[in-house]
Amino acid sequence: MTPLSRREMVGQTTAAAGAAVLPGSTGIASAMQEDRRSPARRKLKIIVTGGHPGDPEYGCGGTIARYTDLGHEVALLYLNRGEWPPGDAGVSRVAEAKKACGILKARPLYAGHANSVAVVDKPHYEAFRKIIEAERPDAVFTHWPIDNHADHRAISMLVYDAWLRLGKNFALYYYEVSNGEDTVQFSPTHFVDITTTEPRKRLACYAHASQTPDKFYALQQQVTRLRGVESGHREAEGYIRHVQSPDFTLPLA
Ligand SMILES: [Zn+2]
Repeated sequence: MTPLSRREMVGQTTAAAGAAVLPGSTGIASAMQEDRRSPARRKLKIIVTGGHPGDPEYGCGGTIARYTDLGHEVALLYLNRGEWPPGDAGVSRVAEAKKACGILKARPLYAGHANSVAVVDKPHYEAFRKIIEAERPDAVFTHWPIDNHADHRAISMLVYDAWLRLGKNFALYYYEVSNGEDTVQFSPTHFVDITTTEPRKRLACYAHASQTPDKFYALQQQVTRLRGVESGHREAEGYIRHVQSPDFTLPLA
């Protein structure tokens, strides 16, 4: 029997699952490509990055739940612990993130920056790249870079630099946190139907109880309803895939 490619495996076993990736062609990228095509590694690794605890949940929570429901692994990589005021170590925000990740069946990760004072320079590019490289993701989601919050712009740049230096060997998607204050000029190229997972997304966002979820979830839901109208679903999350990203299928309706 001819071994199935990873794309075929995923397509056959999970039907609507996010599908495979065609990574780069040299060095580490080549090794990863071989590994990814091994039938033994059917599970996809997805990283959803965010400037603060809560951003991945608000922007991509419905999609994250769809991935984890399909048995894929999702890590939420937060740039900082949301510590405020400075010096409080972010204990309460980290506890909220842990609860949110539990609801979405995801795993929290932290990139070690300080809230509202993200640093984008050579050493920080390198440190961030190492985090991504160690996780060996199939796809990474990050903030759209035109955003009114400096931490959101910072992690978008850190992800982009890592993507370039790792040979564009994972799919790269941008998401929106359009609560009226953040993402600007966002026109999605791809949509994910979150009609069935919206209740869990809502719970995950409300797990961030210190972040006035009544106000911000209502604003974010205006966006998912608009994206739903655009894509023909009750609610949807919209994404922009980088034009040079490896092909990668989002969870389908
Ligand atoms: Zn944020």
